[in-house]
Amino acid sequence: MTDDLHSDEQRYYQRQMILPGWGMEGQRRLKAGRVLVVGAGGLGAPVLQYLAAAGVGTVGIADGDFVELSNLHRQVIHTIDDIDRAKVDSAADKLRRQNPHVAVVTHAFPVTAENAADLVAAYDLVADCTDNFATRDALQAACLTARKPLVSGAAQMTDGTVTTFTPYRGAGHPCYRCLYPAALSATLTPSCSEIGVAGPVLAVIGGFQAMEVIKILIGDGDTLSGRILIVDGMAARVTEVAIEKRADCPVCAVASFSPR
Ligand SMILES: [Zn+2]
Repeated sequence: MTDDLHSDEQRYYQRQMILPGWGMEGQRRLKAGRVLVVGAGGLGAPVLQYLAAAGVGTVGIADGDFVELSNLHRQVIHTIDDIDRAKVDSAADKLRRQNPHVAVVTHAFPVTAENAADLVAAYDLVADCTDNFATRDALQAACLTARKPLVSGAAQMTDGTVTTFTPYRGAGHPCYRCLYPAALSATLTPSCSEIGVAGPVLAVIGGFQAMEVIKILIGDGDTLSGRILIVDGMAARVTEVAIEKRADCPVCAVASFSPR
């Protein structure tokens, strides 16, 4: 695919291309960008829709689940007509209708420690929109090894968090394990089917994730690497907390000593 912008694309993106730091060059960078969104659920819905609308050239969707009725209150990319369809197919249909200039690639299987590296290899960066620690660990490891940014969102009940991991950049850039040591993560396993989740909180977190991806591709703005935003939906409050890079981190400490 050429990265030239046709006149109809320029009209499509005109309201964002006039933004400071964006312009034709920023839009070309978005079009050249390849982003993998893991999870086509509550977080994946806004992330996918905003990335496709913004003109990210290639959007990959990885998810092995099928659409259920109990998904629809928050997974707003799917509709009542999509029940029992693969989520990747349902989501891809919407994105192709939303923006025909975007190439949508589907991966209809769960991301695991076994397949994460191969999947990540085909993309520039990854948005983690999953809901379990096993997949998060697999993506973290694959992105660290491949030296690719990982934009991570999470939400439960009426709260959410969002941050970006670029631990291969060295000092000041922690990883997922710096934030959540292994011993801690094993205890944090209730799912939204057990404790619930409010749809709009996912939109807030997913919106931040999409903005992180866009900034990274354009190469402008400050990312969330080294800090995490904690959103309290009920209090209507966003708190920013610094994440320290752990000197003894088993995942990123060694890698940080040998930057390429
Ligand atoms: Zn670390």
